[in-house]
Amino acid sequence: MSEQPESNEGQKHVVLVIGGGPAGIFLSDRLAKNNVDVLLINRDIRPGGLVEYGIYPTKFKLIGGIRRQIKKVLALPGIHYLGNVPVGSSEVVSIETLRSLGASALAFTVGAQGTNYLGIKGEKRARVYHAKDLVYHYSDLPPFAKQEFPMGQKVLIVGMGNVSVDIAHWLVRVKKVAEVTIVARRGPAERKYTGKEVKVIAANVDREDLDAEFERVRSQLEAVGQDVDAVKAEVMAELDKKPLEKVSETKVRFRYLYSPEDFLGEAEDGPLEKVVLVENELYQRGDSTGCRSLDKKVEWAMDSAVFAVGDKVEDALGLPYERGRYLTGSEGIEAYQVQGQADNAPLFVAGWARNASDGLVGVAKKDGQTCADFILETLKDKTAEKSLEDVESALTQLLTEKGIRSSNLDDVAALEAAEAKVIEEKGEEGFKFDDNESMFAAIDRERA
Ligand SMILES: Cc1cc2nc3c(=O)[nH]c(=O)nc-3n(C[C@H](O)[C@H](O)[C@H](O)COP(=O)(O)OP(=O)(O)OC[C@H]3O[C@@H](n4cnc5c(N)ncnc54)[C@H](O)[C@@H]3O)c2cc1C
Repeated sequence: MSEQPESNEGQKHVVLVIGGGPAGIFLSDRLAKNNVDVLLINRDIRPGGLVEYGIYPTKFKLIGGIRRQIKKVLALPGIHYLGNVPVGSSEVVSIETLRSLGASALAFTVGAQGTNYLGIKGEKRARVYHAKDLVYHYSDLPPFAKQEFPMGQKVLIVGMGNVSVDIAHWLVRVKKVAEVTIVARRGPAERKYTGKEVKVIAANVDREDLDAEFERVRSQLEAVGQDVDAVKAEVMAELDKKPLEKVSETKVRFRYLYSPEDFLGEAEDGPLEKVVLVENELYQRGDSTGCRSLDKKVEWAMDSAVFAVGDKVEDALGLPYERGRYLTGSEGIEAYQVQGQADNAPLFVAGWARNASDGLVGVAKKDGQTCADFILETLKDKTAEKSLEDVESALTQLLTEKGIRSSNLDDVAALEAAEAKVIEEKGEEGFKFDDNESMFAAIDRERA
């Protein structure tokens, strides 16, 4: 008589969560609290995603608060964490490899790691950057931390949201460049930054220049029925509300109703020297205001430019991908489920991996939790194949064979302890080791 396969009834499901930012953390939390084990793997040595490497580093209180929540989640017995494990078609760990480990489902919460090129001439020229790379650089994320990003003295920021303000914050208060020009394709009423955020650069805004800019666009705004004086009063009130003290002579200028059209430099692939922009006019589009270009151009001399227009997901991850998004359905559970996948080990996406650059930490957290609810529903009547220990040991064996050192929670705690010592010794407000080698060296010293 042939041997019957062992019954797995009663065994807990294991979900592999890929990406340790807010979406992945709170997705894991919801699963673990509903009797599902989680193996959480993350590209970076430490968990947190953009909480560690995105939110402006001097927002100590905000970052500290979210860090505490993350620690609490990762301390749950049903969650195991492995850092320094990048997944992707060109990485050691591919999606196929992960699927072969026997987890009941895979959830991708890898954020928006792709660059959103807009198809503008010269946009790949030297000294034309995307905000994500600069943010990773000043937040000390390897390998961006060690890369050079020469900015020069005159910098153009394309986009007028909170990320633009973060970049301007760094340029005004750390780099202390001479001029920062923040340009929007629409008008001041459509600005996307919030009053709370803009106070960090408010003291450097050139008020005379801003007055003149409002006069320049006055007739355009009035043409779509906007009350220019009321909008101006709002913009000024935001700048006047508790501005941070001035630490540099950087002049910050806002420019409205312009779109970049060409990034020019003397040599074919040489650095940026000039930006050509086209003027726009506003028009009413239902409840919102659209813009279209006029036949009028300006040229501004610039040393560097930064796109702060949102990101897209990384196509090289290996999930079905189209136009900046991983392919999912549009509603309910299908909006979280990757299309065209087999029934065993279904694939899900959540957070910025599902909707790139969409919202604050709270939005990513909620999206992770919603995704977890759908995963729980999917697994309800299924039998688990492998235990957490089985899945984890299969993965760690593979990593060992490939010579990859992963980090666990004890390592992360050791890293934080080592960094806290540097902060104390140097009397600095914040410090992070900024390459993987020095992080692991610090971990080893601390744990020895
Ligand atoms: C510049 C900036 C400033 C911000 N400031 C604020 C703020 O002040 N307040 C606020 O509430 N929100 C802020 N946000 C938004 C907030 O950071 C996001 O809402 C949130 O981090 C998105 O969470 P996520 O988990 O979807 O993605 P992420 O936070 O990006 O996390 C993705 C995780 O996936 C991992 N990963 C990526 N690729 C792979 C891979 N191939 N394999 C394995 N792991 C991978 C990464 O290491 C990372 O840990 C800011 C965002 C930016 C860009």
